[in-house]
Parts: sequence; structure tokens; C-alpha cells
Amino acid sequence: MSGESGSESVAYTTLGGEEKSLPGSALEPLRAGIRGGVLLAGEPGYDAARAIWNAMIDHRPAVIARCLTSRDVRNAVGFAREHGMLLSVRGGGHHIAGNAVAEGGLTIDLSPMRSVHVDVDQRRARVGGGALLGDVDHETQAFGLAIPLGINSTTGFGGLCLGGGFGWLTRKYGLTIDSRISADVVTADGTLHVASSSREPDLFWAIRGGGGNFGVVTSFELQLHPVGPLVHSGLVVYPGAQAREVLRGWRDFTEAAPDELAVWAVLRKAPPLPFLPPEVHGTDVVVLATVYAGDVEDGVRATAPLSKLGQPIASVLASQPYAAFQQAFDPLLAPGARNYWKSSDFDELADDALDLFVEAARTLPGPECEVFIAQLGGAMGRVASSATAYAGRNAQYVMNVHGRWRSASDDQTVRAWARRIFDLATPFATGGGYVNFLTEDESARVASAYGPNYERLRELKRRFDPANLFRMNQNILPPDATDRRVTQRAQARGIPR
Ligand SMILES: Cc1cc2nc3c(=O)[nH]c(=O)nc-3n(C[C@H](O)[C@H](O)[C@H](O)COP(=O)(O)OP(=O)(O)OC[C@H]3O[C@@H](n4cnc5c(N)ncnc54)[C@H](O)[C@@H]3O)c2cc1C
Repeated sequence: MSGESGSESVAYTTLGGEEKSLPGSALEPLRAGIRGGVLLAGEPGYDAARAIWNAMIDHRPAVIARCLTSRDVRNAVGFAREHGMLLSVRGGGHHIAGNAVAEGGLTIDLSPMRSVHVDVDQRRARVGGGALLGDVDHETQAFGLAIPLGINSTTGFGGLCLGGGFGWLTRKYGLTIDSRISADVVTADGTLHVASSSREPDLFWAIRGGGGNFGVVTSFELQLHPVGPLVHSGLVVYPGAQAREVLRGWRDFTEAAPDELAVWAVLRKAPPLPFLPPEVHGTDVVVLATVYAGDVEDGVRATAPLSKLGQPIASVLASQPYAAFQQAFDPLLAPGARNYWKSSDFDELADDALDLFVEAARTLPGPECEVFIAQLGGAMGRVASSATAYAGRNAQYVMNVHGRWRSASDDQTVRAWARRIFDLATPFATGGGYVNFLTEDESARVASAYGPNYERLRELKRRFDPANLFRMNQNILPPDATDRRVTQRAQARGIPR
């Protein structure tokens, strides 16, 4: 691919997976219309802009449009549509499937749009489409306010908030999408919509769980909630040998927990954390991670039983800034590793399911692999499953078998381990799932993830994106997109239909 000078041609991939080229001069209108700048291969910043969290993904877009404004986004969408270019949207670049970056296509990079503005009087925030979770916590916590977010501060707000979004505050305040008031959305025809429950309610429904299928969100408006800034939170670490008893105790404890309390269980090899004795590093452990989203003294009392489920190696529960705990796992989840996930939702955890997790932990294929089980329920389950596109409202737990490793030579081993644990867990699971955790080879699970909401989503896809321009995602296929010739060719190239 060339075209750096503006005179040579630029090769690109079409929506259907064909190879085409444009004269470099054809990019001039795009360059003029994108205030954040346009990057081609070989230009400074191109490689940094195409790098994403999962190091298994190494896609090389023909063009990266670094969008700074909604107008930039409209111009980029229009350019892709006009040329039939494969199009992707990059928020924080964290999705495991790597759809943020289009191989051979046009990538809309939203990372220049990271602004967060807090209206303290109204307890509302306006968040840019490319903001990271840490950007949001940084601004909102300055006023003792927060939105339920995920547990890793470098995750993109855009992708998280379009697919659902859960974390420590979800039991108390619901999913991230449940705090959404409105969103500015650029749809495939280039129109900028303001979607809320009163304006464009169908579009607003679809983008609360439907991911990037319906357009590019340039700005989110959200309701904030009082949190901290100090919260009682931390970790209790048990030896892996006690996993069976600890998990049963944890399950029973979580079943009776108040909404303020969330406790996630992680089975893995002990990382070299400073509060763990050196002889424990690298051995099997069960980690209970918790946040009490309420009064600190109540949190001390509520979390006390967590240290009594066995004989802990360490118990580091303390009153600490919520925003700091939101970054506590960042060092273990830094970009640069190869990653493969398998995830399932559970309405309940029977003893046999817990024993399966213990077995999974005995066969961990590497020091960075883990099985984590997040506790859901609470407020997120009190919203009807049909109220938003996100369907799995009744799930009380979500398992993520997290394969994480460094060398391509381990690809087969780790992926086989993750798939095996997932298969063994399937009889206990709901059959649904979370689109934000689906890997690139799980497009067949998209329909079951949306369950009864899937057909309405397909109809809305036909209305807002009939040509499936936004297909680099957990794709909802419009009902009449049945061009087998195109889809087979696309599949052969690894492009979702
Ligand atoms: C380390 C790690 C920890 C995580 N922890 C949690 C967690 O605690 N809770 C949780 O709910 N999820 C969690 N996730 C999953 C997370 O929700 C998804 O990876 C999500 O897609 C991340 O968003 P992103 O913007 O970074 O992703 P990207 O890869 O940039 O985008 C993913 C997709 O979202 C769409 N998209 C992104 N931004 C926009 C936008 N503004 N407009 C339109 N479409 C857009 C695009 O279709 C894109 O393909 C975690 C992921 C990782 C890697």
C-alpha cells in the first residue's frame, strides 16, 4: 500500500472483502475533512494508532481517521460508505476480538475524543466517544460521583458503554447503560442523531447493549451517583488448596449480600504482589476482590466474613479512594500480551460448577491465565430484559476464562484450555452471554447473547444500517443481508458477514 505523498494509489478492502484501490488524490477530501488528522501506513503515529490491547491482533488499516469532532466522524463514515470500504470504530481498543481495527479498511479512531465534563448541580456527565474509564473516574470522583464502569481503567468507555458495562457499582447502580440519559450517534447515512428515551427511542434502546452495530457515538450523557471518594475495598487471598471450601463460602455469602457489596472470585497463580510472601508467588491462589459502595464503617462490617472462609494468606481490606481501586488491576491487565477468552453467564452456581472452576485452576496453562467469576445481580436485574438491548439481566455471575500468554508457540495450548473449561461449564450456564467478552471466533453466539431481543435488533439494524456498514463488531445481521457470495468471501478473509 502506498499513497503517503498523496499521488500514489491506496489499496483497500471493501465491505465484501474484495481488494480495490484509490488514487492518493481521492484522499484529499478526507484529509481536509478530518480535523484530528488522517494516517496512512508508514506515517508517524500509524503503528501506535493501530495497536490494540490484545497483542494477537495485528491489523493494518488502509486509512486511519483520527476523529476529533462529530463532523470528523460524519466525514469518515461518508467516505467509507461512498467507497464501500470496510469500516471499523476504535474506542479504547480493548475488545478481545480486535474489531476496533479494520484490516485493509478505514478505521475511525476516536482516541482524540476523550473529554469528560461534569455538571455537578445536575449530577450529570458528558463523555466523549473515545474516553477511557480512567478519564471518567478522574473527573467524576473529584466530586464524589461515579458511573458503574469496568475494573480496568484503560478500557474504553465507548465499547464498554455500548455493550452493557458492569463493575463494582453494578449491583448498587445497575449497568453502565442504565445510567445513560442520551447519546449523539452518527448513523451509516451520516446523520447525527440525539438519541434518548424521548427522542429516537428505538435507536436509544438499540445502543444500550447493541454495541457498535448502529453507528458511532461521539458523545454520551450520563446520570452520576454518589460514591466514595473513599470506599472499603481490597483483596483476600487464600491458598489454592482451600479453593473448594472458599468458593462454597463465597457463593453462599454473595447470595445474601446487599446491593452495596460486590465480591469477585479469581483463581490464578499468585502474582508477585508486595503484600504476598515471596514463597507464595507463582503458587495457586483464590483471590476475593471486593468493593463496598456505601458507608465505610458498614463496609468494614459487611466484608468481615470474607476473611473467615478459610485460612487466608493475606487480607488487605481498607478504606481507600474508589478511583485508586479502579486502577488496582491495571498492572496485571496491561496491553502487550496475547489473550483469548471464553465467557458464560450463570443464574446460580451449583457445587458442581464450583468444583469445575477448582479443576480449571489446577490446569492453568500459564502464570497469567485465570478464571474469574464476577458477581452481578442487584440493581441490574431489576430492569426488565426487554427494556434495553442487553438481555442477560437475570445473570447473578459471569465467568471469564482468561487465557493470557506471551509466545505464539503457546497459542494452541492456551486456547484449547480455555475452550475446554468453557465446554465443561456450559451445562451450568444460562446459554446467554456478554457481547463485550466474545472472541473473534464466536460470531455464532451473538444471537443467543441477545436472546429474545435479537429479532428487534435485526429490524433496527435494517432501519439504521441496511448495508451493514458497521459490521466490524459482534455483528447483528440485517434480516435481508443474505448475499452468500459476498459473505463467504468475507468469511474466508476473517471478516464478519
Ligand atoms: C482488561 C479488560 C478488562 C475488562 N473489564 C471489563 C469489566 O470489568 N466490565 C465490562 O463490562 N467489560 C470489561 N471489559 C470488556 C470491555 O467492555 C470491552 O472490551 C469493550 O469493547 C471495550 O471498549 P473499547 O472502546 O476499549 O473497545 P474497542 O475495541 O475500541 O471497541 C470495541 C467495539 O466497540 C465499538 N465502539 C467502541 N467505541 C465506540 C463508539 N464511541 N461508537 C460506536 N462504536 C464504538 C466498535 O464496534 C468496536 O469494534 C474488559 C476488557 C478488557 C480488555
